[in-house]
Amino acid sequence: MPTTRYVPDTFEQECIRLLFQWLSEHGFQNPDLPPIYYSLETPPVFEKISHDWQQFFTDDILWEALNSDNNSTIETLTDSQKSLIKELNDNVLPRGNQERKILVGRIVSIDTLLGRYYADTPHIVLYAQGITAYAKRLNVPTAILRAVVLVHEIGHWISHAVPDSRGETWETADFTNESAALCEMWAQLFTYWVAEENGDFKIAFEALNNHQADEYHTYNHVTHHDKTTMLYVLTYWHRCFPHLLNPPPPAEEVINQLIPETPLRIARNIYEDCFNKDILKRKLIESAPTKERITTIFDMW
Ligand SMILES: [Zn+2]
Repeated sequence: MPTTRYVPDTFEQECIRLLFQWLSEHGFQNPDLPPIYYSLETPPVFEKISHDWQQFFTDDILWEALNSDNNSTIETLTDSQKSLIKELNDNVLPRGNQERKILVGRIVSIDTLLGRYYADTPHIVLYAQGITAYAKRLNVPTAILRAVVLVHEIGHWISHAVPDSRGETWETADFTNESAALCEMWAQLFTYWVAEENGDFKIAFEALNNHQADEYHTYNHVTHHDKTTMLYVLTYWHRCFPHLLNPPPPAEEVINQLIPETPLRIARNIYEDCFNKDILKRKLIESAPTKERITTIFDMW
């Protein structure tokens, strides 16, 4: 199936213009977008199943059984419907509500069904079939959902690769090793900011989020902070050690939430003595591996 270069439509261009405006207002550079591709291939999450995967979205009984709070609804499914679920869930039929919620979240995940940002050679792929199928299920216009997905993937690219005022980016090795919860926090936060500016976009964004896994909801913990604060945090935490010593007060509050006290103290001490970013970063990682850092973040939230 073909994959072609994609040119954002005028609605999407307006969304992207907003993003670039906010970046520019906060000292970030405005580079060209990475290549965007429109793929008619089967979305990654369905690549390995033999069933007609569209059935997952078009079958009301199947969809309601998976999203119902009633444990017994799974028993009402036909053998064909059950076998589709088994293929999607490593041959296990989920019986509990929580298991089914996790399964649905995995299947409809933005980055496995609808689009994906590839960091190594920065480019974005939009999965046309996934977007169309899920837009129908959500009862939102396909073009609007596509815009939401595109902005989300561009959000990943911004957080990773758009140079800030010093020309710094989030190093690719660090970005690709970061937890999904944090990577998705940034992508969803940029999408949320656009949603706040456009009603149709907001309806599709909120409908999309209804069935997303937990990592796609972490942005909710930081939406009460303004753009200045959050873009400073992006610069300060992921990219810019020179700012470690004197963050402005609102950013300091978020940073103190996001980074445990010990590695932050170590980082500041090291930075006062040594301006070598590599040493600082290594010491930070040694003192707080990402997983522990993330656990602490969620404990604090
Ligand atoms: Zn994402």
